[in-house]
Amino acid sequence: MARQDMSDKKKRKNCSLCADKVESIDFKDAAKLKRYLTEAGKIIPRRITGNCAKHQRMIATAVKRAREASIINYVFD
Ligand SMILES: [Zn+2]
Repeated sequence: MARQDMSDKKKRKNCSLCADKVESIDFKDAAKLKRYLTEAGKIIPRRITGNCAKHQRMIATAVKRAREASIINYVFD
């Protein structure tokens, strides 16, 4: 029996950063980073955002740097 992944309706990549041809993410750009964070300040999984692995990694790295630099909070209110 083949398992069907109900959550995977779209097979196409839906990476907004690829669409914008983003080559790097500035960790000082908190407004942009927050688009990829939950209200609790967690990084949204790429299966939800649709980001590709390359950009998800960039986001994760940028978020970590931004946290260390106190640009974004670890936990949002
Ligand atoms: Zn991408």
